[in-house]
Amino acid sequence: MATVSHDSDTNEDEQAETTLRVLAECGVRTTWCMIEPGYSPAIYDKVKQAGHELAFHYNALEKDGGKWGAGEFGRQLAVMKQAMGLERVVTNKNHYTRMEGWNELYEWCDNNGIEMDQTRGSSKRGNVGFLFGTCHAFVPIAWHTARNRTFRVLELPFFSSDMGTGTWADASIANPILSGVERVEGVAHILFHQYHLHYNDHVRQLFCQYIETAQSRGFAFWTAAEINDWTRARRSANVTDIDEHGEAAVSGSVAIRDLVVWVPLAERPGEGAGTGRQGTDTDIALKLGVPCRKQVCRA
Ligand SMILES: [Zn+2]
Repeated sequence: MATVSHDSDTNEDEQAETTLRVLAECGVRTTWCMIEPGYSPAIYDKVKQAGHELAFHYNALEKDGGKWGAGEFGRQLAVMKQAMGLERVVTNKNHYTRMEGWNELYEWCDNNGIEMDQTRGSSKRGNVGFLFGTCHAFVPIAWHTARNRTFRVLELPFFSSDMGTGTWADASIANPILSGVERVEGVAHILFHQYHLHYNDHVRQLFCQYIETAQSRGFAFWTAAEINDWTRARRSANVTDIDEHGEAAVSGSVAIRDLVVWVPLAERPGEGAGTGRQGTDTDIALKLGVPCRKQVCRA
């Protein structure tokens, strides 16, 4: 799976118009992290109509007028929610990925209804790739001062900003990232700024190439909010029983169509392992080194 996010930074409407056009040409829907004060109201309508996600871009960078603090996080989010005409904003990414301490940001996300954060990512030259060790949406854990509790917010890291600006990576990063993600069935998340998509022909060209490459390799592009909803639905699934035919009973997964459960096999394939019941897809694969049978749960 793949996802693209944008940070609105200088908030020029023309940048948004160009980005909308490029995304329509490429046939992808993306996540738009909006920094205060944001675009003109008409832009938000177009972004929504095109099926993109409107999200929050918290500014704690003092040189850009931002401030680090719970009050400021809440204030900026409230301003942007009103500007975008939204009651629910799922996703946040901090401007310049600026972060302090350990718990604060995740606490603020939880307290303000942000369900997915994407602040963990690259911000400096050469600082690209799997910097935080994963390409899966993960649950952050609090510092010992908060008894290592888990937060409600999910973290979805990203692996590079715009290719081809000379600041982060060039286009050679695309295939290694996609291969790494493919290997562990994760999420390929790249950030492209509307600013560069508008002003830099080379970035725009590399963006379209990247989307085409990913799509031709079978990657589906989802918004961060969609990945959030899917991840939570998947995590809500519980195997409550396995019957004598090896069929798993699953609860809590109502939001997922065709949920796949990998049921470990007692015996190696060809040694008399049980087969799936009628009406289910069967397939055998090695998962975490254990031969498993694929069961597709029809809703
Ligand atoms: Zn930014």
